[in-house]
Amino acid sequence: MAELHSHPVPSYLDPAHPGPWGIYLEQVDRVTPYLGNLARWVETLKRPKRILIVDVPVELDNGTVAHFEGYRVQHNTSRGPGKGGVRFHQDVTLSEVMALSAWMSVKSAAVNLPFGGAKGGIRIDPHLYSHSELERITRRYTSEIHDIIGPSKDIPAPDVNTNGQIMAWMMDTYSMNEGRTTTGVVTGKPVSLGGSLGRIEATGRGVYVIACEAARESGIDIKGARIAIQGFGNVGGTAARLFQEAGAQVVAVYDHTGIVYDERGLNVPGLLEHVHETGGVAGAPGTQSLDPKEFWSLETDILIPAALEGQITHENAGLIRTRILVEGANGPTTPEADDIISAKGTVIVPDVVANAGGVTVSYFEWVQDFSSFFWTEQEINHRLEAMMRSAYSAMSGVARQHGVSLRTAAFIVACSRILEARQVRGLYP
Ligand code: NAD
Repeated sequence: MAELHSHPVPSYLDPAHPGPWGIYLEQVDRVTPYLGNLARWVETLKRPKRILIVDVPVELDNGTVAHFEGYRVQHNTSRGPGKGGVRFHQDVTLSEVMALSAWMSVKSAAVNLPFGGAKGGIRIDPHLYSHSELERITRRYTSEIHDIIGPSKDIPAPDVNTNGQIMAWMMDTYSMNEGRTTTGVVTGKPVSLGGSLGRIEATGRGVYVIACEAARESGIDIKGARIAIQGFGNVGGTAARLFQEAGAQVVAVYDHTGIVYDERGLNVPGLLEHVHETGGVAGAPGTQSLDPKEFWSLETDILIPAALEGQITHENAGLIRTRILVEGANGPTTPEADDIISAKGTVIVPDVVANAGGVTVSYFEWVQDFSSFFWTEQEINHRLEAMMRSAYSAMSGVARQHGVSLRTAAFIVACSRILEARQVRGLYP
């Protein structure tokens, strides 16, 4: 390999504390030995293509002016336009946005979507601001990043604390500045504005399809399989419903209000109704309550963390007794916990494939916006299932070929696809 003429950690991050970007760099180092001749290009993955930091000044409702720091990072666009969410959170940092943009490159490539990776964010606690203040903040941020986004450049989407309304404001602001309605500049829009049917359920449906593929490979019949799920929101709730419809037994559900358990399988529609009425699973009729230790110790066929990141650590990994762990959430398993669980023979299906259903239907939304022709929900679900199965099969094939975990295999598949594109495109000039 050629001598390295550049530093691994860019000057704009503290080399002693690179943050989430440092974790990502380690992941790339781990897969480099499996990249063959493509390793020649690996440095391209270790630096974002473009970083934009913007000031977002806004007049607040009380007449004062506030300034927020906004980011848009495009990690890689070798395979297509950047794709990735916009996060509104007080703790957003450049390192975090960089790492999230890189993980989007990996996720898009692992599922073989014709996208690169990008991510955006504003350092703000949105709960402290009114609806109209948030609208002004979103519109000013969109104007500031206008030059680098667009349907064939970089397509934002919702992430933590952003939603369809914020996407609608972004789309409107971009369209006003362009002088024409451009629905395809963002995804995750309301259906009335070119959003896709099936988008809300997409991630949970993808988790379900991937879990079925992993179960099949492990010789587990989904019918009658015992399943425990942490998180009963968009992702966990949808997956739970689909599992029950397929004849599985969802024996335990863990949310921010408590844990409910029924040895014979919970009544999922009844539980969804209870959450709708009371805000959480705690106290659902006919269920037994468990403490977190009991939940993680349950003997199950499939365990699905679908709540927050960092939930499975060295502290609870030792308790886990499941055959398959499917990461519905982003980053729910720490690397240490991953080693402990894998050593027991549990198959861990990594987030970059397991929860890629959302970005896959975002891709369908973008395609539908381009052609101004909208598909039925049935068509969307059918295509989603086909793409998820094919992503699972590519990952699992590489895992067998190299004798590595599914997580390493997903990174090998994704990084190889990105670097192959980089290689055949060549370097300009
Ligand atoms: P959501 O807000 O709809 O649901 C979150 C669930 O987690 C709720 O049931 C909540 O009660 C539970 N929860 C929150 N804090 C908890 C705690 N401390 N202990 C136990 N449970 C807790 O969110 P979602 O959209 O379902 O997303 C869940 C995860 O999936 C997140 O990690 C998210 O990043 C990831 N994800 C979501 C999508 C998507 O399209 N929604 C796509 C990819 C990844």
